[in-house]
Amino acid sequence: MVHSKKILIIEDEPNIVDYLTIYCKAEGYEVLSVRDGLEGVVKFQAEKPDFVLLDLMLPGLDGVEVCRRIRTTSEVPIIMVTARSDEIDKLLGLEIGADDYVTKPFSPRELMARMRVIFRRLEKGNGVSTTEATAEPDAPSVLEDSLFVVGKLVINRDSREVVYNGQSVPALTNKEYELLITLARRPGRVYSKIELEEALYDCDSLVASRAVGVHISNLRAKLPTPKLVETVHGVGYKLSRDAI
Ligand code: CA
Repeated sequence: MVHSKKILIIEDEPNIVDYLTIYCKAEGYEVLSVRDGLEGVVKFQAEKPDFVLLDLMLPGLDGVEVCRRIRTTSEVPIIMVTARSDEIDKLLGLEIGADDYVTKPFSPRELMARMRVIFRRLEKGNGVSTTEATAEPDAPSVLEDSLFVVGKLVINRDSREVVYNGQSVPALTNKEYELLITLARRPGRVYSKIELEEALYDCDSLVASRAVGVHISNLRAKLPTPKLVETVHGVGYKLSRDAI
């Protein structure tokens, strides 16, 4: 029998805790919640949950520190919840080791979908089912590196699968994929065609700048929202912050 997964919610806004609890229970998860960062770390050590939903701004200890402390002893999946999308850049830069980031307001349905993706990946990565393994449960560190998440955009770097706003994007060519991941690393930053050429081609190429435009339009055609990749006239392209 598969035991139900235990989710720890570390969040100080009671309304969010309430509705996350409802959604998690509907998924069949067992839910624990605390409203303070330090309490969160203590609860984590005591309860060994299977998943942590962690708010960034918390009393006691902020989410970054909570994440770091949990990571000293555990590879448990952590989704970090932030109030602003530009904080995600900062958090990515800090490399605190969360598996995914979402911004408020978020759709609980989407959050549940992301949790399922992470659970599935973990089960696959372990190569065994959820039954107790006798070997040391070596949590795959690939989990951190392979799922690249910017707001509604989720890129799996192993499978090159792209999901936007819960919708699967048709398979991208290598160039389209490279363009998207380059833009997604810094949402809102404008990349010139020359920079994008450099990302796509190792050497200088005279044909490249036309090719970048072609790859961009092909990429857009595959995205549920073409707006995601914006043209900045006379300058280049960027990943739209408004669309993520
Ligand atoms: Ca908060």
